[in-house]
Amino acid sequence: MGIFDEMRKYGHEQVIFLQHRRTGLKSIIAIHDTTAGPALGGCRMRPYESEEEMLLDVLRLSRGMTYKCGIVDVDNGGGKCVIWGNPHKDKTAEMFRALGRFVDGLGGRFYTGTDVGTYPQDFVHAKRETPYIVGVPVEYGGSGDSSVPTALGVIQGIRATAMKLWNSTDLSGKTFAVQGLGKVGYKVAVSLAEQGAHLIVSDVVMENIERLQQAVPEATVATPDAIFEVHCDMFVPCALGAILNDQTIPRLRCKAVVGSANNQLLDEEKHGAMLQQRGILYAPDYLVNAGGLIQVADELLGVNPDRVTAKTMAIYDILLRVYDYAEQHQLPTSLAANRIVEERLATVADLKSICS
Ligand code: NAD
Repeated sequence: MGIFDEMRKYGHEQVIFLQHRRTGLKSIIAIHDTTAGPALGGCRMRPYESEEEMLLDVLRLSRGMTYKCGIVDVDNGGGKCVIWGNPHKDKTAEMFRALGRFVDGLGGRFYTGTDVGTYPQDFVHAKRETPYIVGVPVEYGGSGDSSVPTALGVIQGIRATAMKLWNSTDLSGKTFAVQGLGKVGYKVAVSLAEQGAHLIVSDVVMENIERLQQAVPEATVATPDAIFEVHCDMFVPCALGAILNDQTIPRLRCKAVVGSANNQLLDEEKHGAMLQQRGILYAPDYLVNAGGLIQVADELLGVNPDRVTAKTMAIYDILLRVYDYAEQHQLPTSLAANRIVEERLATVADLKSICS
């Protein structure tokens, strides 16, 4: 693989390979774009099949962070870190301290914290070596469970979508199909029920369904396969990525898709356009699920839950802007969101030239 070719294709600024023999740390940090501010992105630990797979993952994820930061207007750019290893057996405190030393060496160009395969406690070790860490446990100065603002952002996305579809944010009597009742999906489902909505829910773990049924006994349960074709007003994916694809999109019986799952469109362009052709309004995932990012980015200003809530509530207005832009420019909503970010970054780059 030509590394420079890949960096040029995605527009990356910097890719750093890290190796520490004694702790076994093998890691890559990718910094995609720092126009808006220091790069910010979690650290994922996975037993990758190859160096190529690892590199492509960090390039793709760090670019995604530029768009996610950009759409909610936080002063950070896109970055990401990946560690090669099995998170269940290869992790040590010292490995994360070593990572912390490398992150410190970047002098504040990159902040990191948890992602798939890593936990807040891992970054307590990293934070001994560097201040450029976010999302540690509350007792170490972190801002707490990110699924709370993430769920709030999804609800704001649903309310904005209701406004677009029905000119009202009243969700009572509407039906929502919620896929995945984990940390985010459970909170979203309970909030919808509290607003008078009907629920059809699905999960692959029975205890998660039972927990939801205790809170909302009238919720209907669908199998993980059937949830794609239940008649509903909105489909709310809060489980897996790539669930909007050639097989599932023709089966959907909803007016809109609004959920927290990352990378819902298997192919951003093709499947965004397919949803548009079917007349299904798609709320771009990286905007709707940005509440967690807003919370960790906000830590850099000092922990302030009220400010996080206010910024997360703004997802409502931003999503309405994306829908309007998509309509005006005849674009799928996923591409409209990307364009808004690209235009914003061009403006920020330009204004930073003032008195520089
Ligand atoms: P989680 O692991 O707590 O919950 C995921 C749930 O989905 C689990 O209950 C799991 O059993 C269920 N699930 C898995 N496969 C399923 C299937 N085929 N059908 C139905 N249910 C299935 O994760 P979470 O923190 O709630 O996050 C949910 C999604 O939102 C993920 O895609 C995550 O990447 C994304 N996200 C989460 C946050 C956050 O702050 N937690 C932030 C941004 C994005």
